[in-house]
Amino acid sequence: METEPLGVIARLMHELGKLPGIGPKSAERLTHHLLQAPKQQVFSLAEALRAIKEQIHPCEVCCHPTEHVRCTICADPQRDDSLVCVVEQPRDVIALERSGSYRGLYHVLHGRLSPLDGIGPEQLTIDRLMARVRTGRIQEVIMATNPTTEGDGTSLYLSTLLGPLGVKVTRLARGLPTGSVLEFANSQMLADALEGRRVL
Ligand SMILES: [Zn+2]
Repeated sequence: METEPLGVIARLMHELGKLPGIGPKSAERLTHHLLQAPKQQVFSLAEALRAIKEQIHPCEVCCHPTEHVRCTICADPQRDDSLVCVVEQPRDVIALERSGSYRGLYHVLHGRLSPLDGIGPEQLTIDRLMARVRTGRIQEVIMATNPTTEGDGTSLYLSTLLGPLGVKVTRLARGLPTGSVLEFANSQMLADALEGRRVL
């Protein structure tokens, strides 16, 4: 069956409706807002959307999104480069940075192992992490994947790979409720979880 191409307005509603938290009603409301907004404001939004895809790429060291070769955290000489905290998503870096209690570097996996969804080690940035650890600079790797079944599985998998490399592997303390998501934890909880980390 041939599907008719969407009209311009319907297409915008359709695209907005794919965003998290935007249902059909919100998509319609936003579309009508944009139709009435000044041309310059809408073009500026379109330009900002284009820029995040054209100018942002993973940091060559930690895979956190950046517009530079290295992100501002990796490029900061004040950070302790013997410590690496492994997280699932860039949002987790933001949450841990907000806690203000961590001065090491990060490694962003861009997901977690999830065999049922077809996400294996090769879909994540695990090779990059191993290469970093092999340089010999890193002394401790802190697993800060989410305290979910998949997050725990990912940590365990990584610890078996890292163990033979002679690096200390720790896991965030269980101050975080099981199943909670790091990005929603408050700063004090994250600071406590970092402080109380245990050897895996
Ligand atoms: Zn970086």
